[in-house]
Amino acid sequence: MEKVDRCFVCGSITLNGIYVLGKFICINCVYELMDLDVNSEKYDEYRKCMIKIWEDYIKTANLS
Ligand SMILES: [Zn+2]
Repeated sequence: MEKVDRCFVCGSITLNGIYVLGKFICINCVYELMDLDVNSEKYDEYRKCMIKIWEDYIKTANLS
């Protein structure tokens, strides 16, 4: 049932990932997010991606 998709966070194309609020996130990024240190350089980047996903979701929800 899995299909290949492009990761919303890192842009890599893989079938190993999950959908969060309609956006595909590869398994590598899922693990990165779960294991992310607040002091990490990547923290801000990932946080922005998650905010973008959430904003898009709210926009979509408001339109329907
Ligand atoms: Zn990714």
